[in-house]
Amino acid sequence: MKTSLVWFRNDLRLHDNEVLVSAINNSDQVLPVFIFDDKYWDQSKFGHVRTGSFRTRFIIESVENLRQNLRSKGGELMVRSGNPIDIIKNLIHEFEVSAIYTSAEVAQEEKTLQNQLSDLDIETHFYHQASLFHPHDLPFNSNEMPDVFTPFRKKVDKKIEVREPHQAPSEIKTPLFTNPGNVPQFEELGLEEPKTDDRTALAFNGGENAALERLHHYFWETRELLHYKQKRNGLIGADYSSKFSPYLAAGCISPRKIYHEVKKFEQEVKSNSSTYWLIFELMWRDFFRFLMVKHKTSIFKITGLWNVRKEWEKPNELFEKWKLGQTGIPFIDANMRELLYTGFMSNRGRQNVASFLTKDLKIDWRYGADWFESQLIDYDVYSNWGNWNYVSGVGSDPRKERRFNIALQAQKYDKNADYIKLWVPEISHLDAENILTWHNYSGSDQKEMAPDYPKMIYQSEYWR
Ligand SMILES: Cc1cc2nc3c(=O)[nH]c(=O)nc-3n(C[C@H](O)[C@H](O)[C@H](O)COP(=O)(O)OP(=O)(O)OC[C@H]3O[C@@H](n4cnc5c(N)ncnc54)[C@H](O)[C@@H]3O)c2cc1C
Repeated sequence: MKTSLVWFRNDLRLHDNEVLVSAINNSDQVLPVFIFDDKYWDQSKFGHVRTGSFRTRFIIESVENLRQNLRSKGGELMVRSGNPIDIIKNLIHEFEVSAIYTSAEVAQEEKTLQNQLSDLDIETHFYHQASLFHPHDLPFNSNEMPDVFTPFRKKVDKKIEVREPHQAPSEIKTPLFTNPGNVPQFEELGLEEPKTDDRTALAFNGGENAALERLHHYFWETRELLHYKQKRNGLIGADYSSKFSPYLAAGCISPRKIYHEVKKFEQEVKSNSSTYWLIFELMWRDFFRFLMVKHKTSIFKITGLWNVRKEWEKPNELFEKWKLGQTGIPFIDANMRELLYTGFMSNRGRQNVASFLTKDLKIDWRYGADWFESQLIDYDVYSNWGNWNYVSGVGSDPRKERRFNIALQAQKYDKNADYIKLWVPEISHLDAENILTWHNYSGSDQKEMAPDYPKMIYQSEYWR
């Protein structure tokens, strides 16, 4: 009897899961396993816990949902915590496993694990299943990958097919085991359970079921997809953008599933610039993933993808104020507080706070990326470190010195200061005009108008 171990990582779903389908097709029974790898709850070298409480909650819920879905097909999910290679070695022995199936990741740390698996004396199978385009379908070798998005898009957009998603298996046979293992709770991972803030853009419940419900809501129930392009720079609420990112990051939904659902929607309802734009954004996601294949670890280095040498400030008191949303700059504080209290921030917000940290305060961009890694519910190694390279001017943005004018950005995207008022109650009694021109007031005027709001840590002529 052939038993194959299916190691779930960032692919916590039954639909479009080639790893699972192939293991089932080539084995008599499969042993599905998820491992809470200790190192993801360690401190990073920049001093933040690598997986903060919001993402931890999302992962816990996603694993619980995966287990429930496997059970509904007659299977079971084994859950373990610790070092994945040691755990897998023991399971190979205990269940006489003859092959291992898992997804192929391309970041260094994940690849190291894959290499360690390959070194075990056992058959291994790796499948690329996290991107929109399958890497084998790309019309260039990884070393010819364009370093800038537009040339990349032009080579792939409508030029290569997005593969059809795999159907979820109808039945799953797992070996009998008496100790499936509990999903660890927060204390075991060294964290406190996060409080849910009523102001959160969306109550991000983890799991494949929630992901498919979100897709249904955004496409079919509300048809918000039709307005995506116009609304995607919004700041408040659930539906200004898709909110697919945490689900994509944990693999609760596949980008191919989203793509083919867009195509169905275009046929059955309407095709417009918004339906296209969602796919366009998924291409950005692929872009950062494939960039890492080419540039490997340079994306994590201070000089970034493009080996840019700049003088960076070490993280200081200003960095701590940035993290906590206590800079005295309303638009920055609103965004940083949203991240701190909910684990999410809009794309518009992310660009502004990252530009402010790196182009105004000139603080080493890697500390900002690391804080995002810790806090974001949708953290994805490629999108996070790639976007930080981009915004800080060390990779993939040809306009390296581009700096966001924070004051103008707030005036444009938060016209009535509703977003600032939501997150910065110390100034919510003021008129939008006062809030949006806050930088023009003297320190003593600011103190008089909002005694509880922190003093501005930085002032730029550029904003006036
Ligand atoms: C400094 C910085 C850090 C970021 N870190 C992450 C991260 O860790 N994880 C992450 O998923 N996204 C990251 N992004 C990209 C983007 O901000 C989020 O994907 C988006 O805000 C998520 O909301 P949404 O799902 O509603 O996006 P939508 O606007 O609905 O977009 C749909 C999907 O397209 C993809 N996408 C959209 N914009 C981008 C982009 N700029 N880069 C890559 N993919 C994109 C995402 O998968 C997203 O879910 C970062 C952006 C910046 C500027």
